[in-house]
Amino acid sequence: MNKLSIKDVDVKGKRCLVRVDFNVPMKDGVITDENRINGALPTIKYLVDNGAKVILCSHMGKPHNIFTEGFSLTKKEKKAVEALPENEREQATAEYLKKALKDKEKFTLRPVAEKLSEKLGKKVTFAEDVVGPSADKAVASLNDGDVVLLENTRFEKGEEKRDEALCKKLASYCDIYVNDAFGTAHRSHATTAAIAEYGFVDTAVCGFLIEKELSVMADALENPVRPFVAILGGAKVADKLKVIENLLVKCDTLIIGGGMAYTFLKAKGYEVGTSLVDDEQIEYCKNMMAKAEELGKTLLLPVDVTVTKDFPNPIDAKIDVKVYDIENIPATEMGLDIGPKTAELYANAVKNAKTVIWNGPMGVFENPILAKGTNAVAKSLAETDATTIIGGGDSAAAVAQLGYADKMTHISTGGGASLELFEGKKLPGIECLNEKK
Ligand code: AMP
Repeated sequence: MNKLSIKDVDVKGKRCLVRVDFNVPMKDGVITDENRINGALPTIKYLVDNGAKVILCSHMGKPHNIFTEGFSLTKKEKKAVEALPENEREQATAEYLKKALKDKEKFTLRPVAEKLSEKLGKKVTFAEDVVGPSADKAVASLNDGDVVLLENTRFEKGEEKRDEALCKKLASYCDIYVNDAFGTAHRSHATTAAIAEYGFVDTAVCGFLIEKELSVMADALENPVRPFVAILGGAKVADKLKVIENLLVKCDTLIIGGGMAYTFLKAKGYEVGTSLVDDEQIEYCKNMMAKAEELGKTLLLPVDVTVTKDFPNPIDAKIDVKVYDIENIPATEMGLDIGPKTAELYANAVKNAKTVIWNGPMGVFENPILAKGTNAVAKSLAETDATTIIGGGDSAAAVAQLGYADKMTHISTGGGASLELFEGKKLPGIECLNEKK
């Protein structure tokens, strides 16, 4: 990667504003998964050990904007209120405002500051706002090696709107901007990119997490050791049009599973019953299959599928399933997982690979009865010596749940960001950083 990293600059005594991804899952104020905090630790520790003044910032969830906005309604809520009869509007508005006030408790980063203090073995000061009096005071009091965490950046309306005044104010807190939030590197918000894009900071570098994510994934995409197998699953073809196209060009074998497989199967002329099909993408699927042939690539589709009568409700409900070869899917049945022959076919392709990347489950893996295909693919990745890269999201969750996490070469911390890398897109959170000379 040709971007400057924190190792390339002198951080001693410098105020470093570090955009991290502390968007951790929480239940009743308790952090239920600490992976993202752990992912940011190497950069934070390095900065502390090298005498930087560390100012951390991150978003968390999708709260109301409660600092610059006051407690006002979102656009969507305003619309919903306006749609109500006049005599109900006041009550509805009051309910929404109550919810906004609760957001402050629900989405505060305070528990993260406490957890981080524990992990670092040193006090992390928590600022009650992002750029208000509490943040001003905390930043002004920093000594070398001290750490402050600002409140949830999405409490500021300007975060997602790339507000210049917000960027300027944040830039006034620092000498160096560090981006280490791979999970939001595909977003162009104030703290993820705009602050550097606007030129408000002289020095903009990446942290160790971004450096690692990029070196592993960009390397695999640009210079893969072959055979290179890409596995794509998940619900819809339409969500992954560019990913399919880009990976087809880069890999040797493209494996398709999950809901998206049925549009391909229909494009091939199979009857797929009531399975998820996007008729608007049939032409696209035909084009991709023709392209695979033209480029001499192998495109693998299911040869058998696991079906049910209806989509399970609740999603983990006990259900009866049957397996059919794809020539025989009954008109009344819905394909919700790859079948055992397909799982074997896919596992064999993985066995022969030297590089494998995977994004998206092979079926409705939230239901244990429909998770067999996803589990089989996860197992095949765990058992190979190939470089194995999991592109975050559901596949990362499946791998972790099965206890295979430490068997993978790399599990990305950013599902959305890694998908955009797989699409061949440039990520704004990385583009905005200084180039190496
Ligand atoms: P995505 O966010 O596109 O990666 O899709 C993940 C979702 O796809 C999961 O919630 C799965 O339950 C769902 N999914 C996987 N296979 C199927 C299928 N055959 N039919 C419907 N949904 C599916």
